[in-house]
Amino acid sequence: NCVIDARNIVKIYENGAEELKVLDDVSLQVYQGDFFAILGPSGSGKSTLMNILGCLDLPSTGEYYLDGVDVLAAEENQLADIRNKKIGFIFQKFNLLPRLTAAQNVMLPLLYRGEDEAKAFQLAKEKLSLLGLSERINHRPNELSGGQQQRVAIARAIIGSPQLLLADEPTGNLDSKSSGDAMEIFRELNRQGNTIVIITHDTEVADQVKKIAYIRDGKIHENY
Ligand code: ADP
Ligand code: ADP
Repeated sequence: NCVIDARNIVKIYENGAEELKVLDDVSLQVYQGDFFAILGPSGSGKSTLMNILGCLDLPSTGEYYLDGVDVLAAEENQLADIRNKKIGFIFQKFNLLPRLTAAQNVMLPLLYRGEDEAKAFQLAKEKLSLLGLSERINHRPNELSGGQQQRVAIARAIIGSPQLLLADEPTGNLDSKSSGDAMEIFRELNRQGNTIVIITHDTEVADQVKKIAYIRDGKIHENY
C-alpha cells in the first residue's frame, strides 16, 4: 500500500529570465508503515520536495499520488482537504500559534474538520498526556521548552490520525537530549503503525530510521 507515489518530479523556479531546476526527475515511493528519512545537505532541494510531498506546492512536471489521490489533478480546495486530513506536519520551528494554549494548538486539526470542541479538547489532553505533557496543557508556547513545544506539535500532527506524518528538520531547533526524545517518539509512533517521513540534513537522525533516500543537487539516490 503506497502512501507516497511520486514519479519523475521536476521543479523549476523562474527568477525573471533565469531558470533554476531544483528537483530533477525525482521518484519516490513510501509505503504504509515506513519510517523514512530524506537526507541531504543545505540547498539540495529538501524543502522544495517537502512542500510538494505535503501538497503545499505543485511540481512543474511529474506525477504525484498521495494515498491513491492524484494530487496534480486536484483543485486548491481539495488540496487543502488532503493537507488537513491525510497529512500531519511537523516543522523545525514548531509553528505553534503563540496566543493559544498547548491543548488549543493540538485541537486545531479537529476543529478545522468541524469536530465537536469538547471532544477535541478531551482528545488533545489525551495526546498531550501520552507525550508527557499532562502538566502543560494550559501553557502557551513561550512558556514551554523547545522540546516541549515540539512534543505539542507532534500531538497536533497525530491527533487526526493522518495517513502520513511529514517532518521537516524536526530536531533542527532542539538540543541533543530533546532531539533524542523526539526521535524516540517517532520510533514509537512508527511501531504503532504510523507512516513517517523525516526530511533532514542530520545523519544522526537518518541513522535512526528504517529507510533512507539521499538527495543531492535535486536528484534522489535511494539506499535501503
Ligand atoms: P534545502 O531545503 O535542501 O536547503 P531548498 O529546497 O530550500 O533546499 O532550495 C533548493 C534550491 O532552490 C536553493 O538553491 C534555493 O535557493 C532555491 N529555491 C528554493 N525555493 C525557491 C523559490 N521559491 N524561488 C527560487 N528559488 C528557490
Ligand atoms: P529552510 O530553512 O526550510 O531550507 P529557507 O529559509 O531556505 O527554508 O527558505 C524559506 C522559504 O523561502 C521557503 O518557502 C523557500 O521556498 C523560499 N526560498 C528559499 N530560497 C529562495 C530563493 N532563492 N528565492 C525565493 N524563495 C526562496
